[in-house]
Amino acid sequence: MKVLVVNCGSSSVKYTLFDMDGEKKIAWGLVECIGLDEAYYKRQSLKCGEKKDSVKASNHTQAVELVIKELLDKDCGSISGIDEIAVVGHRIVHGGEKFSKPVLVDKDVKDGLKECFAIAPLHNPAHYAGIEAVEKMLPGIPSVLVFDTAFHQTMPDYAYMYALPYEYYEKDHIRRYGFHGTSHNYVSQRAAELLGKPLSELKIITAHLGNGSSVTAIENGKVIDTSMGFTPLQGVVMGTRCGDIDPAIIAYLIEAYPEFKDGAAINNLLNRKSGLFGISGLSGDMRTIVKAIAAGNKRAKLEYDMLCYSIKKYISAYFGILNGADALVFTAGIGENSPTVRQKACEGLSALGIEMDVEKNKEPLNSERFISAPSSKVKIMIIPTNEELMIAREAKKVLANE
Ligand code: AMP
Repeated sequence: MKVLVVNCGSSSVKYTLFDMDGEKKIAWGLVECIGLDEAYYKRQSLKCGEKKDSVKASNHTQAVELVIKELLDKDCGSISGIDEIAVVGHRIVHGGEKFSKPVLVDKDVKDGLKECFAIAPLHNPAHYAGIEAVEKMLPGIPSVLVFDTAFHQTMPDYAYMYALPYEYYEKDHIRRYGFHGTSHNYVSQRAAELLGKPLSELKIITAHLGNGSSVTAIENGKVIDTSMGFTPLQGVVMGTRCGDIDPAIIAYLIEAYPEFKDGAAINNLLNRKSGLFGISGLSGDMRTIVKAIAAGNKRAKLEYDMLCYSIKKYISAYFGILNGADALVFTAGIGENSPTVRQKACEGLSALGIEMDVEKNKEPLNSERFISAPSSKVKIMIIPTNEELMIAREAKKVLANE
């Protein structure tokens, strides 16, 4: 059985085709810069290896058309007809309160997704365009939506509510939603498998640390709290996002600077000009920051310390609300690849039973592994995330009506 996973951004279409017998990736790639002259198509398949071409892709439909043509290509393709694709799984950033689990697409679901445009204006319209493009190019093939927010819908109300006047929750649905749910879900399931215990008996803290980062507290397979909020801006310090700040700073900036007169300008500052980039003045990419620290850059070092400290605060808080933890899992670009961030985020937490094996943590491996000291009460783990596979599994489950 083949499942196509699609992730449509505002100017990109990423995809992976899985053969679910053995959960193997057989083709994957992306069309980038949709709508621009410099649009290109980069892809890889088991048959033909890597290819990259400049392409004409004025919209999502044209981008999806390129992908389907390539998948059907007689030399490099991976399928001989579209009917070989059993189901398409779409990654959707925001499902609001409407969607707490993956769903098969129909008209009501599409209308529901449209209702979430207002709370995810950067992502959901692009996802919608992607769904319509897939419907056009793959007529008759079912689509399943898998939401980044859905895994977090188990949070109790006292964790997801903001202490604003209640009417803004009722009218505008302002509350904590949480993001990266597919990743937190995947790594917590893998952690349970690696620990050899049912997820329903475990307390796990998962730290998805990438360009965007979030930490989640999971008890018996259910999210109790997560660091991202109404949008993916809240929580730990990130590449170009500020994470937690005093909200009064926004009112101050609006009063003090004429350029911050509207929401778009403030959003740009907080989402694109802050975080690692904002403090270092160099880059939002951790690898650049690490090089700058080695070259003696003090602001890069400050930002790095801030980022690690903010992760440590969430780990400690979630250890508290869970009343202990069986495992702490690191995942995503920084979580999987930066031993120094992992070490610093766990430093001084021995009182919580979090003790790292510093040597194991440094091993340059790209695989699932334990990095806690034998004496550590909490098992510290690295688990490479696999959101695409999780989406493929969920799509397959929905199709089978499981
Ligand atoms: P992601 O959003 O999961 O793709 O993660 C991207 C982040 O991971 C960027 O900040 C990268 O700089 C960071 N990253 C990737 N590889 C490494 C590495 N070897 N050391 C430190 N950071 C890394």
